[in-house]
Amino acid sequence: MTIFEKIIARQIPAEILLETDKLIAFRDVNPQAPVHVLIVPKRVLPRLAEATPADREILGELLLAAGELAKKLDLKSGFRVVINSGPDAGESVPHLHVHLLGKRQLGWPPG
Ligand code: AMP
Repeated sequence: MTIFEKIIARQIPAEILLETDKLIAFRDVNPQAPVHVLIVPKRVLPRLAEATPADREILGELLLAAGELAKKLDLKSGFRVVINSGPDAGESVPHLHVHLLGKRQLGWPPG
């Protein structure tokens, strides 16, 4: 079980901001910006590199949830969404998740 499955199952605590039947969003425990939220599908898909056309709906829902949360969290001046897929990207939890970052000036290119 990944750490995110444990959060979904309420086996470990998290500050949950949004939950639907298909996804959950909670604050990152090690925030890289004043707002740092993870948006996670309930059904485990390890990483974007393994997504297939069957995942089209959940992939859309993850991005729509990011936009909805950006509004709810008042990220008017901008925000960034990030998906780390695989070791070169620094993926550390093998359960697809979208990072939503905001409330500070974000550098480009990313590290
Ligand atoms: P990634 O490196 O893209 O796989 O992102 C995994 C993220 O999960 C990191 O930003 C971690 O800080 C975050 N994380 C790990 N454990 C927890 C937890 N128990 N609650 C919230 N966020 C977590």
